[in-house]
Amino acid sequence: MKIVVFSTKPYDRECLEAARPQFAHELNYFEARLTSATVELAKGCGAVCVFVNDQLDASVLSALAAQGVKVVALRCAGFNNIDLSAARSVGIRVVRVPAYSPYAVAEHAVGLILTLNRKLHRAYGRVRDGNFYLGGLLGFDMFGRTVGIVGTGQIGTVFAKIMSGFGCKLLGYDKYPSDACRELGVKYVELSQLFAESDIISLHCPLTPETYHLVCDETIVQMKEGVMIINTSRGAVIDTQAVISGLKNGRVGHLGLDVYEEEADVFFEDLSNEVIPDDVLSRLLTFPNVVVTGHQAFFTRDALQCIAVTTMQNIADIEAGHACENEVSEENIAKSNVTNTKLSQTS
Ligand code: NAD
Repeated sequence: MKIVVFSTKPYDRECLEAARPQFAHELNYFEARLTSATVELAKGCGAVCVFVNDQLDASVLSALAAQGVKVVALRCAGFNNIDLSAARSVGIRVVRVPAYSPYAVAEHAVGLILTLNRKLHRAYGRVRDGNFYLGGLLGFDMFGRTVGIVGTGQIGTVFAKIMSGFGCKLLGYDKYPSDACRELGVKYVELSQLFAESDIISLHCPLTPETYHLVCDETIVQMKEGVMIINTSRGAVIDTQAVISGLKNGRVGHLGLDVYEEEADVFFEDLSNEVIPDDVLSRLLTFPNVVVTGHQAFFTRDALQCIAVTTMQNIADIEAGHACENEVSEENIAKSNVTNTKLSQTS
């Protein structure tokens, strides 16, 4: 199939090109994001291949359909950036990569925790500057701390396994509790109890209307004074203004973000020679107890290779008229929740 690939960087092209010989697809790469301003680039193609910050709202989808596009292939697991009912109504099928490497993201979340706890981001700069003073670098033992995991799907389960290795107490909140997580020692509790008892809260749920601004003024006051909050899920699960207030008044002791609710205009670009126009992000970057990474948790060689092959296969399945298990449909989402539960029972 002829495919226009949006939001590509050299590393994306490299992995997609490595996977391409196994498939009969023709790929046209663009660095631009898919928006109403760039939608015309898809003219004459059967599929568009997109990433986390491409805009797939009703107007873009109807313009795609009018140009003959039949498939939207997401190179990611989350599908919060696409209006699924609009896609359905214009006859566009949507596929995604639901599982590429839960290890990549879970391990990055742990990296953020250790960096914040032991102030590695600050220690690195100090030592390189010949400053071996330890003041301000005091951390805490991970052993015995309580870690709250919101969303115990594939990534949350791997994260639970790693944190159990540290000897942490694990609390979990999920609509579909998993027996494997229970076996790892996760105690499922209500969200309010998780907030009240956790020293570290790590978010691994999808962005949905229900999880939008799950961390906000009202929930931050329920948390332990000095709590560490880690977000590798989607930016808008946290109300950024609320968490900035929490950092300023000390209720939030550490914040590790790989995602940010207004990341679309900033992340994945080199803006080091420019003035960052986003004052909220700029404020976040001033705190010594905040570490922000630019949506890189997925970014391992293993994950990119898996994303490339699965994306190509998804499009080939749809083109061949086969059922595609990675199609984003209500039925497959319901199935994946059940499978997650079963998977985590066996992993
Ligand atoms: P998953 O579907 O396996 O797990 C998500 C879990 O969240 C499920 O168990 C689900 O039941 C649970 N959930 C749904 N609604 C919830 C709610 N309201 N409260 C609590 N739990 C809820 O997905 P996954 O592969 O573990 O990925 C989780 C999220 O991580 C994705 O949705 C995506 O947004 C994000 N992600 C980020 C990166 C990155 O690079 N930062 C990479 C991959 C995925």
